[in-house]
Amino acid sequence: VLFLQGGASSQFAMVPINLLDDKSEADYLLTGQWSKKAVAEAKRYCKVVNIIADTSDSKFTTAPSQADLALSSDPAYVHYTPNETIVGVEFAYIPETGEIPLVADMSSTILSRPVDVSRYGVIYAGAQKNIGPAGLTVVIVRDDLIGTANENMPAMFDYKIHADNESMYNTPPTYAWYLAGLVFEWALEQGGLPALAETNKRKAEKLYAAIDGSGFYSNPVDVSCRSWMNVPFILANADLDAAFLEQAAAHNLKALKGHRSVGGMRASIYNAMPEAGVDALIEFMVDFEKRNG
Ligand code: PMP
Repeated sequence: VLFLQGGASSQFAMVPINLLDDKSEADYLLTGQWSKKAVAEAKRYCKVVNIIADTSDSKFTTAPSQADLALSSDPAYVHYTPNETIVGVEFAYIPETGEIPLVADMSSTILSRPVDVSRYGVIYAGAQKNIGPAGLTVVIVRDDLIGTANENMPAMFDYKIHADNESMYNTPPTYAWYLAGLVFEWALEQGGLPALAETNKRKAEKLYAAIDGSGFYSNPVDVSCRSWMNVPFILANADLDAAFLEQAAAHNLKALKGHRSVGGMRASIYNAMPEAGVDALIEFMVDFEKRNG
């Protein structure tokens, strides 16, 4: 387990740099804005980036099924984004890739529930959602995948150098790392990831139920792959968006504006958002609909 810097965006490059070895191709699942960025970066290092699933036709509101995945003949690894933060699409299964290492950008889902780490070659995550403050990047690498970095690359991009130096090859982001430690202790005190998962599932389900149960709010994501962490929704009348955001903020319900690329609203309900916060949002939504629906 490496504690690095550079954000998940640096891992978009470090993954191919460290995993390609003598291969030149990698497989990517294109399921949203973040996997799109991962693909663009991989193209700098891979001769061929095979897009083995592409949900852009649905405006990224669906996830491919296992049967849809056609692995290429000799990829160094398969990369996917278990939770696409912007549209709120989450895989309900772990892709099966046989002997090919599976790489996951878990930035917006790590610590939301238990995960079978043994299924992955690499898991990486910017810390700033469920782990702690920005500035720390957690990377979990299978031992046998360490040590094949392209030597022409910067030392700071080499997993082996960081592993050999226990993530202290250079000055680590000490304060962010310390705070992450406090968050891990907090998570254990809550009952660990199984307990956090229960709460997160409940939070998400009640918010989706409120959205689906109204004729006023809607969420475009296929029910089979809705995110527990990021819940986007739109109002029946987009002219009311500004009033919704303003009045919500007056009730201390902040940062609900959707990502600039999709508009509407987005409630990101990471671990730090207590269930009472979700209840308050639902209460406000019901009231706003009464007054404007
Ligand atoms: N991947 C995902 C899934 C994300 O949500 C984000 C940030 N929102 C990133 C990558 C980029 O992370 P960073 O800012 O740490 O580079």
